[in-house]
Amino acid sequence: MAPTDLGRDADADRLVEEALAADDVPQLPPAGERAALARWGEFVADDLAGYERGRDRPAEESTSFMSAYIKVGAVHPRTLLADLAGQGGASVERFVGELAWREFYADVLHHRPRTGWADLRQELAGLRYDDPEDAIEAWQQGRTGYPIVDAGMRQLLATGWMHNRVRMITASFLTKDLHVWWPVGARWFLDRLLDGDLASNNHNWQWVAGTGTDAAPYFRVFNPVLQGEKFDPRGEYVRRWVPELAHLPGKAVHQPWDHEDGYAHGYPRRIVDHAEERKEALARYKAARG
Ligand SMILES: Cc1cc2nc3c(=O)[nH]c(=O)nc-3n(C[C@H](O)[C@H](O)[C@H](O)COP(=O)(O)OP(=O)(O)OC[C@H]3O[C@@H](n4cnc5c(N)ncnc54)[C@H](O)[C@@H]3O)c2cc1C
Repeated sequence: MAPTDLGRDADADRLVEEALAADDVPQLPPAGERAALARWGEFVADDLAGYERGRDRPAEESTSFMSAYIKVGAVHPRTLLADLAGQGGASVERFVGELAWREFYADVLHHRPRTGWADLRQELAGLRYDDPEDAIEAWQQGRTGYPIVDAGMRQLLATGWMHNRVRMITASFLTKDLHVWWPVGARWFLDRLLDGDLASNNHNWQWVAGTGTDAAPYFRVFNPVLQGEKFDPRGEYVRRWVPELAHLPGKAVHQPWDHEDGYAHGYPRRIVDHAEERKEALARYKAARG
């Protein structure tokens, strides 16, 4: 699954065979327009009414899961919008707004193609980055010692999808706790997401990193513990993806360091101190902005 120069056809065939034989390839959802519309029907019947409340709760899995279908063109967003015509309310409006974000980022990339892999805004052009190989690998494999970050990264590896809230948390951790340049994380996501899309992925990464279309988010540093407690209040999402913490009840799962048996089942210690790295990130942003 690593980025690869396919080279000759024989190499390409071998790589495809290896990829199909690998046991870490996520299971794909049923393919095609009929499957996409069936999934859409389920979402509208079961979860759309509660979307505004449930969309930020990764344990509930109550978002539409339409992103891969939209990405590959199995269904057009206009088909979904047409289906919602005449319906109002906070949940429908929010859902339509999320589809609009996708269109917005596609439009930004169309007009400014170089922003696919380069900062849209130049204010942070002088920002100092690190290249901590071991820490990047810990992030990729879900072994940072921060439970919600690790849960998200493991969900990505296992399924090829990650909940939106957790995409934001994991991206913030890489860029602001590890001080890594956003394209490093964007590349990792793009190679693994079933919905991987240059515009949506890389501009969301820039939104988190503070180099994108957003006005002034450079000081927004997600606290992985508070985010976990707020959006996974019963700890169910973390316990689902991090079995080493399954013995910790409720929201205790977000701070294993506070519990005598927190590390009893081999969960890794924190690779950085969030409070320290937050200060460091803000100092670097301040220096870059002059
Ligand atoms: C760092 C990061 C990387 C991301 N990479 C991608 C990506 O490669 N491809 C991708 O489709 N989305 C990406 N997103 C946006 C979002 O996380 C996914 O679209 C969403 O999680 C897909 O699940 P869903 O279909 O159940 O979403 P729902 O909540 O049901 O949303 C409905 C649809 O709206 C669109 N959408 C929702 N949120 C966003 C958003 N923030 N930006 C753009 N479109 C959105 C998608 O098409 C999605 O299918 C990324 C977000 C972040 C923070």
